[in-house]
Amino acid sequence: MTAAVMYEQGLPAPYAESKPFKIEEVELDGPGEGEVLVEIRGAGICHSDLSVVEGLRKRPLPIVGGHEGAGIVREIGRGVTGIAPDDHVAMALVAGCGKCRTCLVGRPGLCQAVSGARAEGSLSTGTRRLRLADGGRLNHYSGISVYAQYAVVAPQSLIKIDDEVPLDVAALFGCAVVTGAGAVFNSAKVRPGATVAVIGLGGVGLTAVMAAREAGASQIIGIDVLPGKFDLARAVGATKCVDARDALAVQQVRDLTHGGVDYAFEVSGNLAALDMAQAVTVRGGEVIGVGVGKTTAAFSVAQLPWVSEERVLRGSFMGGGVPQQDIPKYVDMYLQGRLPVDRLRSEHIGFDQLNEGFDLLHGGGVVRQILLPHGA
Ligand SMILES: [Zn+2]
Ligand SMILES: [Zn+2]
Repeated sequence: MTAAVMYEQGLPAPYAESKPFKIEEVELDGPGEGEVLVEIRGAGICHSDLSVVEGLRKRPLPIVGGHEGAGIVREIGRGVTGIAPDDHVAMALVAGCGKCRTCLVGRPGLCQAVSGARAEGSLSTGTRRLRLADGGRLNHYSGISVYAQYAVVAPQSLIKIDDEVPLDVAALFGCAVVTGAGAVFNSAKVRPGATVAVIGLGGVGLTAVMAAREAGASQIIGIDVLPGKFDLARAVGATKCVDARDALAVQQVRDLTHGGVDYAFEVSGNLAALDMAQAVTVRGGEVIGVGVGKTTAAFSVAQLPWVSEERVLRGSFMGGGVPQQDIPKYVDMYLQGRLPVDRLRSEHIGFDQLNEGFDLLHGGGVVRQILLPHGA
C-alpha cells in the first residue's frame, strides 16, 4: 500500500522542498489476534503533526504519520468483538488497555501501557504490522498511522459511527472534535452563562468554540494571531474575536467580560499564549491547557494569586474523557447541527500534496486539510 513515511524530524520549511514525508509503497501485515484492518478514507492534518515534523517531540523513526482518521473496517482478527467488516469507524489515539488504574476510573487517555506503546511505535498489542518495502522496521504513530491507505489497529482505537456521517468529516472526530469538545464538556465542565476565551482557532479551538456555545456560555471570545480565522470563529459561535498581537488584547478581553473570563482554553501549545490565558482569566477562574508544545517546555505561575484568588490550572489531554462513549454523542450533536464540525474542513488533498499541506498549515491559512489516501 501507499503510505507517508517520516525518516527524519526537524527538516526545515518549506516542506514542499525538504519533504519530511516520503510517499512510498510499504508492507502491512495482519490483522493478527485482537486487531482490525481498516481502509482509511480520510485523515486530518493536525497542528500536532506539524510540531512532530518540526521535531518538538521525538518519535521513533521511520514512522507512518497521522493520528486522526476514519475509514471502513475490512477484516477483523481472531477474538475481536463488537466490530465487523463494512462498519464505518473513526480512529482515536486514546485507546486504553482497559485494565490499569487510570483505565478503570474512566481515564483511558492517561493509560501508561498505551502511552508506552505509543512512544515505542508499536500497537497497544506490542506488535508492529508495518514494514518498509525492504523489510526494515517501520513504526506506528499513536497506534493508528492514518497517512496510509490501510491501517491495522487495536479495536480500542476504533469508534463505530453512523454511516450517515461522510468519512472525511468522520476523520475529524478522533482528534480535533474529541479534544476540543471534551475540553469544554469533560475537563472544564463549562456552566450555562459562563464566559469563555479560546486561544488558538484551529480545528481543536474552533470545536471548543462550538462546544462552549452548546454548553450555554454567555460570551465566547476567540483569540488568535491570524484575524483571517475570525469570520469562521464567529460563524460557529464566537461572540467576539480579539487579535492576540494587539498590545491591548488582554485588556479588551477583561473589559468585554467585566474583569476576565471564567474559563480560558489555551489550544495553541504556545507558552506566550498560556501566559495570556492566565491574564484574561477572572479571579477564581480556570485555565485549561489543551495545546502541546516542546517536550521540555515549562511555564510559570504567580504563586500568590494562584492561592489567594483560587485560580485553577487544568491540563486536558485529548478531551479528558472516554472516546468510545464521547464520540458517538458528538456525532449525534453533529447530525443535529449543534456541532457543525464539517465547517473545519479546508481542502481535500492527495499524498502528492501532503508536504505542501504542512506549509499551508505552518502559514496558518487552513484549518483542517483532509488527506484522501485513495484519491477523491
Ligand atoms: Zn491532533
Ligand atoms: Zn490502561
